[in-house]
Amino acid sequence: MRIITLLFSFSLLICSYCFAGSHEHDEHHHDEHHDDEEKHGTQDAHLHGYAEANVVIDGNSLEFNLDSPSANIVGFEYEASTQSEIDTVKAAEKTLKNTKKMFSFKGTSCQAKKVLVDVSALLDKKTDAAHNTEHDHHDEHHHDEHGDDGEVHSDVEANYQFVCKDGSKLKSIALVLLNSFPAIETLKVDWVKDGKQGSVKLSGKSNEVEFK
Ligand SMILES: [Zn+2]
Repeated sequence: MRIITLLFSFSLLICSYCFAGSHEHDEHHHDEHHDDEEKHGTQDAHLHGYAEANVVIDGNSLEFNLDSPSANIVGFEYEASTQSEIDTVKAAEKTLKNTKKMFSFKGTSCQAKKVLVDVSALLDKKTDAAHNTEHDHHDEHHHDEHGDDGEVHSDVEANYQFVCKDGSKLKSIALVLLNSFPAIETLKVDWVKDGKQGSVKLSGKSNEVEFK
């Protein structure tokens, strides 16, 4: 009995130490870190709801790069393990590869020559090919990036190369991808065309990059 009382008061002592606000034992203070995303400004702009792209037009060739937190694309950022997660990633990958669902060119027509979509942080090749069976429980995210807060974050990247009929006539690109991925609330686009450059922030309502 006395031992229990002793243990009890000892743990009380430890607890009051915890509550005193010491951050030496940070491991179990997850709750305090929920707003970390906003503070991580230095970390290549990984902000859910936000994505970045750049367009370079040189003569008739056009290159477009997109970098978005995975959360905007599929709703999660860890490696897909359930069949429905895997299906979600594959569907998103298909949309990203379908340039008609991503872009609409005005002033001239542009043909895709090369499309690279990287969802490797979300889709392990092994999971993809073989066992989508009874393995729902191995969801350790060892391949993913862990932030300081212990949460998993990852990005989806896509690279597109087009050849346009007459690059000098290209007036604008509507980024219709914002309809396919409404979780991208803001898409910042930096562009370079024939010595001119600009930067715009787009949303679903205003999705056009004008080159002027
Ligand atoms: Zn994230």
